[in-house]
This record gives sequence, structure tokens and C-alpha cells, in this order.
Amino acid sequence: MNFSDNHVHSYFSTDSEASFESIIESALEKNLSSVCFTDHMDYDFPSETDEPEFVFDPDSYFATLQKLRKKYPDFPFRIGVELGLKQGVLKSALELTGSYPFDFVIGSTHLVDNMDPYEEIYWETTGETKGISRYYEATLENIKQGFDYDVYGHIDYVLRYAPTIRQGKNEQHAKEAFINRSMSENEELLREIFREIIKHGKGIEINTAGFTKGLGHPNPHETLLACYKELGGEIITMGSDAHEATYLGSHFETAYAILKKTGFSQYTEFHQRKPKMISFKQRIK
Ligand SMILES: [Zn+2]
Ligand SMILES: [Zn+2]
Repeated sequence: MNFSDNHVHSYFSTDSEASFESIIESALEKNLSSVCFTDHMDYDFPSETDEPEFVFDPDSYFATLQKLRKKYPDFPFRIGVELGLKQGVLKSALELTGSYPFDFVIGSTHLVDNMDPYEEIYWETTGETKGISRYYEATLENIKQGFDYDVYGHIDYVLRYAPTIRQGKNEQHAKEAFINRSMSENEELLREIFREIIKHGKGIEINTAGFTKGLGHPNPHETLLACYKELGGEIITMGSDAHEATYLGSHFETAYAILKKTGFSQYTEFHQRKPKMISFKQRIK
């Protein structure tokens, strides 16, 4: 299988130290067809230091990657970004996507009411049930704001860090019950999210980091992928969300099996912001 990994972080992201070379070497070793770098750009991310966090200098990013093209002329990597979407950053985000020739833009909810569900304070403030529904409400608000993105990232990211998932390390049964309950409690909201995404001609990703983070499912969950498909969703990219080269393309075989079972016969790659549908047959050799 030689899929493209469309969600990858390098040292241009605050939470990664991976060099572009290490990622490309790993992609070549794993026989991935290509990689799209999608470093974090979260405008107005609350920083604990004097330095802004989760933002990079796009001039330096493009210059570094253009130079790298000369070093790897035969490896067709693409240049993307993972934009953190929230209230108050629309102008900066539109300026960025309007000024730089990205191949691909993932829009993601990382902050809800300026808190990251990755942090315990989020759950202490909201409680678990409200913390989950509030995340989806914020996602729907972001979608309706008019951001310029291609696919919405890890739709149910919030589940990865919910206390029941994080603390229940070995209790798979309890975790599954919790995940199913949370999906049915938020079903209408999630359907509305998918309807809006589809209506705007955008897509979603299957993000395999859920497998490496103890969720035991991709983001979004299999049930939500089926819901997206049923509502007419076709655009779907595959991404590992790797922050280290070793996780590149991780669990792609499982993701492929899930997509096939859900009824997808193709997946999507973005080149110069245009979706290219790739049939699975083309990639299975
Ligand atoms: Zn993300
Ligand atoms: Zn990411």
C-alpha cells in the first residue's frame, strides 16, 4: 500500500522536533506515495511563556521546504498547514491562506473557550458531558464563520482526552460504552457539522492518531465516518498526525480497511488546494 500521509508535523510546530529529512526518509522507507506537511498555525494560542506558541514564520517555512525540494527531487511532498480555528482569528487566518501557496489546509478545533481539551483544566471547568458537547458546538461555530480550509481535522478530537478515556487505560469495555453514549448524545450536532461541511464543498480526514493515543479508534470514530458517508460526504484525506517520523503512516492499513468497509472506494489528496480523488485500486500494489 502506498498511500499519501496528509497530516504530518515537523519542528515548525511547537510540539514537534522532527526534521523534514527524518520524515521524508521514513516515508521512503515505508513506501508512502507522498507526504503533505501540515504544521500548526494556531493564532492567539494562550502561551505559558513570553514566546508565542503554535505559530510559525510562513516565509521561513516555504523557503526551507523549497530548498528541500532540491534535495529530494524524486519525492513529491506537498506543503500544507493545520490551522487552529476559533473566534477572533478569522482575519489572520484568511490573510495567511490568501497570501501563501499552500497545497492543503486542515482546519481544526484545538481551543474551546480558549482552553485545549488536552489540558485537564478544560475538563475541570466544563465537566465531561458538557466538555464534549461544547467542543462540537465550537466546531459548528467555526464552520459557520467562513474560514478557508479544505478538510476539517480530527472531528472528535475531544474524545481522545476525555477523562474516561484517558484514565481508563485497560478498561476497553467501559471506554467503548462511553464513546457510544457520547456519540448518541451529540448525534444531531455531529450530523449538522457534517451537513455544513458537505454543503460548503469541504471534506474531513481520517486521522489515525486516535490509535496511538489510546482511543482505539480513528478520529472520527467509525460510526461518524459512516454518518458522513450516508449524508453524502466524499472528500476524505488520510493522515497520521505524526509529530515524530516513526508514526508516519501509522495504522494506515486499518484506516484503509475501515474506509473500505464504510463504503469508500477512494480517498483524497490535495494539490494546490484542489481535491484529487485517488481510487484505492491505484494505491494497492
Ligand atoms: Zn490537530
Ligand atoms: Zn495535527
